[in-house]
Amino acid sequence: MPPPRRPGSGAAGGGAATIAGVTSSPLSPADVCRVDLGTLTTPRGEPGAGSEVVVHGFVVRHPQGVVLVDTGVGDPTARDFVRDWRPVARRIDLALGEIGLAAADVTMVINTHLHWDHCGQNAVFTHAPFYVQRREYETARDRDGVIWEWFQVAGARFELVDGAQQIWPGLSVLPTVGHTVGHQAVVVDTDQGQVVLAGDAADSVASFEAEDPRLGVEPENDDDWRQAVRQVKRLAPQAVLFCHDPQPWRPRPATGGG
Ligand SMILES: [Zn+2]
Repeated sequence: MPPPRRPGSGAAGGGAATIAGVTSSPLSPADVCRVDLGTLTTPRGEPGAGSEVVVHGFVVRHPQGVVLVDTGVGDPTARDFVRDWRPVARRIDLALGEIGLAAADVTMVINTHLHWDHCGQNAVFTHAPFYVQRREYETARDRDGVIWEWFQVAGARFELVDGAQQIWPGLSVLPTVGHTVGHQAVVVDTDQGQVVLAGDAADSVASFEAEDPRLGVEPENDDDWRQAVRQVKRLAPQAVLFCHDPQPWRPRPATGGG
């Protein structure tokens, strides 16, 4: 595997994050597509035990290329993942085909974090760089042997990101730690406001609205998790999309008063 490169060394370029506010964007909300990548079954001991949980990735059709955010469930070789979560993976090339794309069309992959249900099919995209927060990458390297092995097999080329960063015009990553120590969300500026691809910054509309981590899988740090949710809300996005909830969060329409 080649050594990780500094962010900004690729075609993407670096630059300060411009996450607040929306200028004239070439993107519209329709340029953001959901990709259905399988299901999990919530194990005993977790909220909603026994219920089926969807797994989503997202595609952003940017003028500079096709961005894939998270690659879903792969073929977990670790038996405890299979036993606990009973994953049913959908092949990502077939899922992309449903929206008229081939795997080779993907220019860049952004992993919100390095859990096995978000980077499971990274190996399909070794032609593309993987944008990951440096802290997430280093934590996975230091403590998660299984996931690290997958990456070695993939021969993955990582672009390590430190904090908030604009990746392409109108496309930024925003640290939203709590679920994991190096989790990031993706913020897409559109002509109708910002769309946030939350990853697992929150599991669902319910946990996001209530700012209650107990409504989903236990985060690594509750306080950080809440801060991240509030940080996303402060952006005043027009939509927040989740990896494990088919419903988007949208702001409530302002009441007319009186
Ligand atoms: Zn997840």
